[in-house]
Amino acid sequence: MSISNSHKEYYEIPEFWDKIFSHDPDEQIRISMVISAIPGDVQTVLETGCGNGAIINNISNQKKNIERIVGVDISKIALSHVKTEKFECNINELIFEDKSFDLVIASEVIEHLTFNDFIRGIKEIQRVANKYILISVPNDENLLVNSRMCQKCYCWFNPNYHMNSFDKQKLYHLFDNFEMVWVKEVGPVIKMKKYSKFAAARFHYLKKPIAKIGICPQCGFNYANRKEEYDIIGRKIKQTDPIKKKMRVCLDILTRLFFTKKINKKRWLLALYKRSYILKNKYN
Ligand SMILES: [Zn+2]
Repeated sequence: MSISNSHKEYYEIPEFWDKIFSHDPDEQIRISMVISAIPGDVQTVLETGCGNGAIINNISNQKKNIERIVGVDISKIALSHVKTEKFECNINELIFEDKSFDLVIASEVIEHLTFNDFIRGIKEIQRVANKYILISVPNDENLLVNSRMCQKCYCWFNPNYHMNSFDKQKLYHLFDNFEMVWVKEVGPVIKMKKYSKFAAARFHYLKKPIAKIGICPQCGFNYANRKEEYDIIGRKIKQTDPIKKKMRVCLDILTRLFFTKKINKKRWLLALYKRSYILKNKYN
């Protein structure tokens, strides 16, 4: 197990799993797109990182021919919402035999994996999948712009614990033994900001955006119930001066108007892979 304690703590926040996915219409679109993308000849499904079961709890309503549905996750709290067969298990050490499932789903999971977990997790997904793999990830997330600073220890982190960003090209080369059948953009169209060097500097290095959600992976400061008023070296954490705040807002508006382009793209990428029999014959 290489997931740090802060990461584990983040995934055990009860309110997170009570609310996530169920009240967000955009997430509902993603969930129904994932379920409708399941190929017709699939009879057994494993979802790695199933969270609160938003996908697997709904598969049997739409796909009547599926005989076995299993979810695994590292969060006990998340698994308490899952209604199918389930196991507490890490993606990098799956407890199943080789080729145990016709389909393995990893939806909004692989972008959360640290480097070693990612390498092992990808191998494990390929090992237990017999026919297909279905992946969804945020569409080309700008990790630099989305990172935030811990107000206690000043380290930078992604409040959603996203460690990786994927575009279509990266997804194409994800697996050795599976080839991509298709990849598509799904979900609502969002305006992705493309920053000039000046705007990136303004928003990232000068503004020092403070995290508002998440748990700092370095010092464990929890933004869900922030009570501490002192930083790591004992200085009182200052509230922002209201006049400075107004000046910053004006500068931000000007930067957005003159130094930022907007690109329309859909929020997620969804990709289906099929086991490559050419490669399988070559190596088996
Ligand atoms: Zn910190």
